[in-house]
Amino acid sequence: MFLSVTTTHQPATDLGFLLRKNPARVHETELSFGKALTLYPEANEERCTATLIMEVDPVGLVRGKGGAGGLMDQYVNDRPYAASSFLSVAMGRAWREAMAGVSKDRQELADRAIPLEAHVTPLPARGGEALIRELFGPLGYEIIIETIPLDPVRTDWGVSPYVSLTLKAVTRLSALLTHLYVLIPVLDDRKHYFVGEDELEKLLARGEGWLAEHPAKELIVSRYLKRRKTLMREALAHFAGEEGESDNAFDATPKDNAEQAIEKPLRLHDLRLDTVAATLKELGAKRVLDLGCGEGKLIRRLLKDRQFEEIIGVEVSSLSLARAAEKLEREPERLRSRAKFLHGALIYRDARLRGYDAAALVEVIEHVEPARLHHLEFAIFGDARPKAVIVTTPNADYNTLFPSLPAGLFRHADHRFEWSRMEFEAWCRKVGETYGYMWEIRPLGDVDETHGAPSQMAVFTQ
Ligand code: SAH
Repeated sequence: MFLSVTTTHQPATDLGFLLRKNPARVHETELSFGKALTLYPEANEERCTATLIMEVDPVGLVRGKGGAGGLMDQYVNDRPYAASSFLSVAMGRAWREAMAGVSKDRQELADRAIPLEAHVTPLPARGGEALIRELFGPLGYEIIIETIPLDPVRTDWGVSPYVSLTLKAVTRLSALLTHLYVLIPVLDDRKHYFVGEDELEKLLARGEGWLAEHPAKELIVSRYLKRRKTLMREALAHFAGEEGESDNAFDATPKDNAEQAIEKPLRLHDLRLDTVAATLKELGAKRVLDLGCGEGKLIRRLLKDRQFEEIIGVEVSSLSLARAAEKLEREPERLRSRAKFLHGALIYRDARLRGYDAAALVEVIEHVEPARLHHLEFAIFGDARPKAVIVTTPNADYNTLFPSLPAGLFRHADHRFEWSRMEFEAWCRKVGETYGYMWEIRPLGDVDETHGAPSQMAVFTQ
C-alpha cells in the first residue's frame, strides 16, 4: 500500500523541506508493526512526488497476541496489502511535522495553500465510490477514482473492493494529510486495534477546523471510533460546540426526521402507532399511559376512540411536551379534555403513574442508556404496574435492508442500542420473569424471511 503526494508549486523540491526528508535519499521509519519508506520517484523544480510505502509485517503483528478474531483472521487478512489505519499511523510518524503544519526551514510554505495531488492505492472502500465522494467532496477535492480488478488477467472476475484514489486541490499540505489521516480508516472501516480514549483525542485534535462542518460528520465519527457509543457522543458533542454528554432531554425533532427518512418508504411509524392503538383497544384498556410520548402522535390517535377515557402522556423533553400541547390545542375541546401531559423521566418511580390499565412505550427504550434501563424496568413494571405494557423497538436484524442506512449505524443518532430479535426476546423474558408479566412478541411491518420485520412489538400482560 502506498500514498504519494505531488506538488507543482515551484520550486517543487521544497516538498522535501515540508516533509523533512531529503528528496535525494530513501528514508526508513521504524514502526511497531513494520516499517515505512519515504522516497521520491520524481523530484525536480517543476514537479516533485514523495511516496510513503508501508511494509506491514503481518506475522510480527499478531505474534504473541491472543487473537480476538481467531487464527484465521490473524493470518488471512489484507493488512499487508491495503491502505488502512496503519497508513495513517505511518503518516503520523514518518511525516509528523508536515501533518502538524510545522516546518523548520519553510514555515511560510507550510502555512500556504499550494497545488497538491494525493494518490492512495489500494484503498479499501467499504461504502464504495459514493462514500468516497461523500467524504472528500465537501472538503473541496477534485476526486478521481479507478476501480481495481480482482485479477488483472481474469477481468471477468469483476472488480475488487479496493480502489485507486486521486485527490487534487490547492490547499495546505497539513490539511491534505490530516484529511487522509482521518478518512482512510473511515473508508476501511476496520480499525486493527482497540479504540479507546486516545483515539477520541486523536480525532478531536485532527478534526479541528473541518469536521464540525462536514455533512457526513456523524458517519465519520461513528466509523472512526468503531461505533463506540460513549466516545461517539463525546466527539459529536465536542464538534457541536457542547460540553459533555447530553442527557435524554434532547430536542428530538431534526434527528427524528432523519429516522423517518430512513424508514419512510414503509410509512413504518404510522403503522407502528396504528398497531399500538389497535392493540390497546383489543386489550380493553380505558385509562392508558403513553410513556415517552414525544409530540403526542399516539395520544391524538387514541382520542378519536371513546373507549379511551383517560390518556396520560409522559415525556422528559420539555420541548417535545410543548409541541405536544400545542398540537393538542388544535383538537376539539370535547376530545382534548381526556388527555393530559406529565413532565417526567421514566427511570424514576412516579406515584402519578400507578393504577392504569395499560402503558405504551413506542420507540423509547432504545433512547435509554443500557446501564439505566433496569431503573426504567423497575419504575414501570415494578412500581407503576399497569395491567398491560406495550413496547416497540427497532429490529436491528432488519437494518441491512434499509438502502439509506450505512452499515452498522443506528436509525437515529440518539439511539443507545438497537436490538436483534433475539436480544429483544431475551429482554422480554427477563422483564417478564422479574416482574411477573406474561409476554408475547409480534412483528411490526412486512416480514422479511431472513431478517424479520422492520420493527418489533412486545405485549406484556399481568
Ligand atoms: N413515542 C413517541 C416518541 C418516540 S421518540 C412516538 O412514537 O412518536 C422517544 C421519546 O422518548 C423522545 O421524545 C424522548 O424525549 C423520550 N424519552 C427518552 N428517554 C426518556 C426518559 N428517560 N423519560 C421520559 N421520556 C424519555
